[in-house]
Amino acid sequence: MPIASINPATGETIKTFEELSDSEIEDKLQNAAETFREYRRTSFADRAERMARAARVLEDKKKQFAETMTGEMGKPIKAAVAEAEKCAWVCRFYSENAEQFLADEAVETNATRSYVHYQPLGPVLAVMPWNFPFWQVFRFAAPALMAGNVALLKHASNVPACALAIEDIFREAGFPAGAFQTLLVGSDKVARVIEDDRVAAVTLTGSEPAGSKVASLAGKLIKKSVLELGGSDPFIVMPSADLDEAARTAVTARTINNGQSCIAAKRFIIAEEIYDEFEQRFVKAMEALNVGNPLDDTVQVGPLATAQILADLEAQVRKSVELGARVLTGGKRLDHVGYYYPPTVLAGIPKNSPAYREELFGPVASLFRVSDVDEAIRIANDTSFGLGASAWTRDLEEQARFIEDIEAGCVFVNGMVASDPRLPFGGVKRSGYGRELSVHGIREFVNIKTVWIK
Ligand code: NAD
Repeated sequence: MPIASINPATGETIKTFEELSDSEIEDKLQNAAETFREYRRTSFADRAERMARAARVLEDKKKQFAETMTGEMGKPIKAAVAEAEKCAWVCRFYSENAEQFLADEAVETNATRSYVHYQPLGPVLAVMPWNFPFWQVFRFAAPALMAGNVALLKHASNVPACALAIEDIFREAGFPAGAFQTLLVGSDKVARVIEDDRVAAVTLTGSEPAGSKVASLAGKLIKKSVLELGGSDPFIVMPSADLDEAARTAVTARTINNGQSCIAAKRFIIAEEIYDEFEQRFVKAMEALNVGNPLDDTVQVGPLATAQILADLEAQVRKSVELGARVLTGGKRLDHVGYYYPPTVLAGIPKNSPAYREELFGPVASLFRVSDVDEAIRIANDTSFGLGASAWTRDLEEQARFIEDIEAGCVFVNGMVASDPRLPFGGVKRSGYGRELSVHGIREFVNIKTVWIK
């Protein structure tokens, strides 16, 4: 794929970018290694000051950054502004908490003194997706830089302007040039970077096949990796739930980011007592969404990010329907320039269909009718993914069952799944391993060094 900004609302190419040559990649790797030697010795106070400045740059220029995001990947402009603000939050969160998260921890043993001491690992490669083109990068970079690591970003090839803007933010905040560098390269160059001895570790947020490739190579080279991969999150509604709030939230949970979020609710598992009522409210609310130009701030659903994503989603829906799924609304791309797909609801989902087995990365919801809590949990877990889950019930026993028995990195009860710098984020099963955010995120790329003194 060429490295290019293509406006998904029009299909027009805004700008294409030259890929880095081998010698330019070499220079950046050398710069990262040399910067790390000095940067690892900087104090937390020093790093915190720069990270707080990065937060201010994000806030001061949030409109400009939002236009860059929307222009390259089509998210509604209001959501893009909110994304820039959330990035400022994660910078501030680690600016204020990193020192405490990585403070020495005394442990009583037979030594005069023994303790755990956290040290940075070195240059970390981040391979990132386009869907939250700022947030995915900042939630990795803020803790990584605060821990004393330096970062190399290989961003998705359709968001190069976002990648370069993020590099500028860290420069403007006062970080040395080698502390955060964007590598404008295709995915075919990722292996060469991981193989380089100067690179200590790798994190990838993206699809399962990309994660598997990157992690196998990292494993072969015995380098630490973190994987944040796909999801097919269940959204379960039981009879005691506040149906009005559940149905309203279900629409947001499915269509957030034009339906292209790893933690978007994708499978709606509804108790039979309330199924018909839920279906009717949900379909009506999906049909009422304002779909259109993402720069218009009344628009709720913009285009899909690329022509390929639109083609893939269309094929998944077509195949599901051929196998027996019913379309309750939507189901066909909009006759419109740009990569528009309407909010769509499918029901009667056959087990062998893409809507049952695969991640649908767009505003397409799959509905399931279940007879009790056991069947709800069985269907929720009948997926290779395990990222998030949302369960709606006022019954405390049911809440306990969902919390205990759903196979996922998080369970949200009576609310939609969302990331928060204070809470760990990540998956189980084929959604990946490792955690981002919170104290757990900053401890992924550190040497947990045992010190024993007599
Ligand atoms: P993708 O896997 O196609 O691309 C992600 C990144 O990996 C890009 O930078 C891409 O260039 C690179 N890449 C792709 N193939 C590679 C390979 N063989 N070797 C090395 N690098 C490779 O994913 P995408 O389409 O950009 O993003 C959508 C996917 O990301 C969805 O599955 C979504 O659920 C997932 N995602 C997960 C999270 C999470 O936190 N778990 C967050 C956002 C997105």
